Amino acid sequence: MKTSRRNFLGTLAGAAVLTGCGKSSINNNTSSSIETVNDMHTDKVFDAIVVGAGLSGLMAAMTLEENGLDVLVLEGRNRLGGRVYTLMDVPGKPEAAGEYIGANYARMRNTIQKLGLKMYNPETNGIDRPWMYNIMGQNIDASSWKSHALNPLEGEDRELLPHRYLSRLSNRDNPLKDKSLSAWLTPEMQKYDIPHDQYLRSKGLNEDTIRLMNVVIHADGMSNTSALNELRRYHVMDFNSKLSFEDGKSWKMVEGGNSLLPQAMAESLNHAPILNKTVISFKEENDIVEIQCADNTRYRARQVVCSIPISVLRNITFEPQIQGITKEAIDQIDYGLSIQAHFLVKEAFWEEDGLDENMWTDGPLERFAIRTKKNPEDQDAAIVFINGPESLKFRLMTDDQVFDYVERELAILRPASKGKLERLIIQSCERDIHGAGDWVFWQPGQVTKFGNHMRKPHGRIHFCGEHTAIMERGMEGAFESGERAATDIILNS
Ligand SMILES: Cc1cc2nc3c(=O)[nH]c(=O)nc-3n(C[C@H](O)[C@H](O)[C@H](O)COP(=O)(O)OP(=O)(O)OC[C@H]3O[C@@H](n4cnc5c(N)ncnc54)[C@H](O)[C@@H]3O)c2cc1C
Repeated sequence: MKTSRRNFLGTLAGAAVLTGCGKSSINNNTSSSIETVNDMHTDKVFDAIVVGAGLSGLMAAMTLEENGLDVLVLEGRNRLGGRVYTLMDVPGKPEAAGEYIGANYARMRNTIQKLGLKMYNPETNGIDRPWMYNIMGQNIDASSWKSHALNPLEGEDRELLPHRYLSRLSNRDNPLKDKSLSAWLTPEMQKYDIPHDQYLRSKGLNEDTIRLMNVVIHADGMSNTSALNELRRYHVMDFNSKLSFEDGKSWKMVEGGNSLLPQAMAESLNHAPILNKTVISFKEENDIVEIQCADNTRYRARQVVCSIPISVLRNITFEPQIQGITKEAIDQIDYGLSIQAHFLVKEAFWEEDGLDENMWTDGPLERFAIRTKKNPEDQDAAIVFINGPESLKFRLMTDDQVFDYVERELAILRPASKGKLERLIIQSCERDIHGAGDWVFWQPGQVTKFGNHMRKPHGRIHFCGEHTAIMERGMEGAFESGERAATDIILNS
């Protein structure tokens, strides 16, 4: 079943020479030589086609290939990696999505090592750097928060800084503590599948505290997020912080940028993933699935792994149609939204206004932070990072309008910033048709209703992606899910 890598590369070489492209830059479907490659792929029936070249899809493809299957990966965007995206052209190469690799990320770490990549410790995790707060329009420095009139907590809790509220207070007395990572899916936990604000009130937290916790929630707001979603998030994080790398650190990144990982995964495959292939329909007939792309090319396979974010599937046709609970899940499950505005700092305006450079606010800007510099001689870069309900309005704005908005709001909070920042890039995972948002989140009742249905195949189409992971979340959840979908195919074929 397996095509030899050398034979395949030999066939591809002609096309690659004609286009002047390397393997992973086969992304120009207007080029005649690329069409030659596509035609070659459209003529045959693959053992498996993987749709989506994010971490889950690439993990599925590698696992299938390692087990002798002939696999093709189709990716809608003009780049690999999905929600792993290093901004290689921005100073300091910031990560615009999947960033920190936990000590518990066993599959991801193993793949990094196997592919000859290296990890390093990010010098400082932005969240540990000095922050000032702007709450209800008042500038407050960290040292005065404990005694400040706006501090809504009592006793020792008054020492807690506002950006820690969501994680620390959600995780307090977590009913998942000491349970397995899959415990969130058990009937025993369904009583926590209720609005997170309702859960927090039942724990005695007041409305002002809940309002501050709501600022940076990676979801659609406290009342529309299941408490179980948040309890699971911090349960997995606790599990990570109990482990550490050989050097005692809990978090790492890929040297040179996390995007080097999906690139190396793609390069390890026998067939280069084909970019710019937006899948619009799946049709299963006579034990074969035919996949149609927006450019009207068609590919066929005996099995399919679909790693497309679940809410993007609303725009895709399935024949036979998906019905029942899986259809409801596709129609109802959503992703947390976020938007990042990246800047170069032309002048250190915090030296002028005397405030801490990093700022956390309950107003529309949420967070302004200076990025960690990889080289001391690099110019400072900064980010405004807004997530949750506040980021919804940006869906209707152009990049320039987002920059105008952000600069205007920043100048209200920090007048000294005016004219001191140079616009670089606006980044957000949902600003094109292939992305749904940053992380999947479960609304109240959805874990109970859909949690155990997410991995159910539709005929020969197997679903993966972080939204289908059982134990892990984020990038390791993507790896877990890709491995699981591939294993399902291997065991059943
Ligand atoms: C801002 C941000 C910060 C994050 N930080 C972390 C972190 O620190 N640590 C962590 O572990 N995780 C983090 N994550 C989450 C992590 O990045 C994701 O969970 C993970 O990368 C998801 O991988 P995936 O393969 O499931 O999905 P994706 O990466 O979204 O892959 C799906 C792929 O399908 C493609 N696709 C979509 N539609 C089509 C179509 N119609 N046809 C063909 N292809 C299509 C997409 O282009 C994409 O490449 C972060 C995410 C964001 C957004």
